Amino acid sequence: MKEFDYVIIGGGCAGLSLAYELEIHNKLIDKKLAIIEPREDYKRDKSWSFWKVTSHNFSDCIKKSWKNFTINISNNTKYLECSKTPYQTIDSGLFYEKIINKLKLNENIFFFKNINEINTQNSILFNSVSDISDDKHKLWQHFYGIEIETDKKIFDDEIFNLMDFDCEQKNKVHFFYTLPFSKNKALIETTWISELNDKSIMDYEKQITNYLNDRLKIKKYKINYSEKGAIPLFQINNLKKLNQINIGTVGGMTRLSTGYTFLNIQEQCKYIRENIKNIQKVKLFQISKKYRFFDEIFLKVLRKNPEKMPNIFYKMFESNTETVINFLSNTSNIFEDFSIVTRMPKWIFIKALFN
Ligand SMILES: Cc1cc2nc3c(=O)[nH]c(=O)nc-3n(C[C@H](O)[C@H](O)[C@H](O)COP(=O)(O)OP(=O)(O)OC[C@H]3O[C@@H](n4cnc5c(N)ncnc54)[C@H](O)[C@@H]3O)c2cc1C
Repeated sequence: MKEFDYVIIGGGCAGLSLAYELEIHNKLIDKKLAIIEPREDYKRDKSWSFWKVTSHNFSDCIKKSWKNFTINISNNTKYLECSKTPYQTIDSGLFYEKIINKLKLNENIFFFKNINEINTQNSILFNSVSDISDDKHKLWQHFYGIEIETDKKIFDDEIFNLMDFDCEQKNKVHFFYTLPFSKNKALIETTWISELNDKSIMDYEKQITNYLNDRLKIKKYKINYSEKGAIPLFQINNLKKLNQINIGTVGGMTRLSTGYTFLNIQEQCKYIRENIKNIQKVKLFQISKKYRFFDEIFLKVLRKNPEKMPNIFYKMFESNTETVINFLSNTSNIFEDFSIVTRMPKWIFIKALFN
């Protein structure tokens, strides 16, 4: 059986980002890499968005970038600017194509459908796969979105809507999210933060149709693309295995209060590449403790008081926008943290702290 220096389990966002990072920094010249990925072909299946607080390898895969956004609760809308850290959306189709084309040029990189095809005894494993589908009683961010195209130019593509909470909440947290890619094309998503055991909130298509018809007043459109997902808002307990480093969602790269993961994955990949020679000895790359602590409290508050969350998110954006973006993107300083924390309803958070 074939042996490899490195094995990446799961050729999705984290697995491919890591392979690409290693490849472009010449770390695979004299090392063999196997990527284990069962999918038959790669096609666009996700739109990864984030505020660009650091550089990344995929500026040529950006579908659209915005410098302005809104957030709504019933009867109130905030207009916010993010020109220093524009909000970017990466097209996963372009991302997969760019990486696969690059990796194919290196004869030291091999693709397999199943890990049983290789011998991993002497390899360092980077794993992005875990079975967490049974954790239905924990909190998830679950969503469904469609990219629509209209005949008329109806969208303002200079400004996106981050969260529209002016919708039915059903004692959960629910909002719509609209990314206008052009004047007649936009991705509209219905997003819930809840457990996964209530099927009554999963009529996503109906929710979007109603939102388009009643709120955005769009009746005629065609659907070009759709995406569906569920991001775990909890730490995934993986059995620690010798020679295995978890990456991506499984490796704890999701900010649990927001679901943002993509840029954290890129930072994790940079760290692994920088330390690749000693990767089994250096400490694991993690989202910093202060954000993990805040997110834990935040999610306790969310679980107990879902009805308060639209106002809490809205109030958070009363701080300077840059401050909020830095906080949500793990780049805030202590003064910025303080500014966010002081806008949170104190008693609810203090109670959650001691529960
Ligand atoms: C639809 C969607 C939209 C998202 N949008 C955003 C966003 O806007 N911004 C953001 O920051 N984050 C977003 N996320 C969260 C996160 O960025 C993504 O989930 C990201 O893809 C996580 O990367 P990953 O490598 O951990 O997992 P994945 O990208 O899911 O990769 C895992 C890979 O493992 C493969 N696999 C499965 N089983 C096996 C097996 N047994 N052996 C080997 N391989 C296997 C899968 O086919 C897959 O390719 C989104 C998530 C989803 C689902």
